Amino acid sequence: MELFFIIILSLLIGSFLNVCIYRIPKKESIILPRSHCPSCQKTLEVFDLIPIFSYLFLKGKCRFCKHPISFTYPLVEILTSLGSVFLFLNFSLSSVFFLYSFLFYVLVVITFIDLKHFIIPDVITLPNILLGFLLSLFGLSTTSSDSLLGILIGGGILYGMGTLYYVFTKKEGMGGGDIKLMAMLGAFLGSKAALFIILISSVLGAFGGFLILFVTRQSKETPIPFGPYIALASMIYIFYGELIIKWYFGDLFFT
Ligand SMILES: [Zn+2]
Repeated sequence: MELFFIIILSLLIGSFLNVCIYRIPKKESIILPRSHCPSCQKTLEVFDLIPIFSYLFLKGKCRFCKHPISFTYPLVEILTSLGSVFLFLNFSLSSVFFLYSFLFYVLVVITFIDLKHFIIPDVITLPNILLGFLLSLFGLSTTSSDSLLGILIGGGILYGMGTLYYVFTKKEGMGGGDIKLMAMLGAFLGSKAALFIILISSVLGAFGGFLILFVTRQSKETPIPFGPYIALASMIYIFYGELIIKWYFGDLFFT
């Protein structure tokens, strides 16, 4: 029963995340006006806004002008729902479940905006750095000193990496958005998580970048968004972080 409720609620949240992904880069309000077709501007009715099902019923086209609807809409809804279900199965209805779910939703929005626009908006990361720290003050995430350390380590290491990259290649490697995103994750998850996420996302990024280069044969000049790798590494940390750290370092730190 709880699971059923989580599925329905997360699909609706996914639908809202779509609105965020579409409107935040355009600096539009995420509340008003009501959703409309980006092609013919007709305001969408409830029937057009049922997660996943509307897309299937309408065969991926606007009901009024038949303009194709991007596949990312149902994709975001499915992803949001799947993530929420896995979080629920792992953490049940605990306070970490709500914390991780919130973080997951923020990361979904950031991932899809970064994939499409190659930016990570400050309006998402900056308030959330503050929120992550405030939650730690109330004992709702990590300790407040670890949260501060997480912000410094997360943001600092990425800033350092970006600077080094620039010194050697004279090219902008790490965007300011990536740095603030890492600081945000450090604020919520603490310093150990920040180190883990930087390490794993770098490995994933190197591997993914190589794969994309190999498959598309595009030049190295093509910008590669790093945000999605950071987001993926964060989710790996949330689900398997402790396990991987223990397995890798063995009894070295955890005796
Ligand atoms: Zn339309």
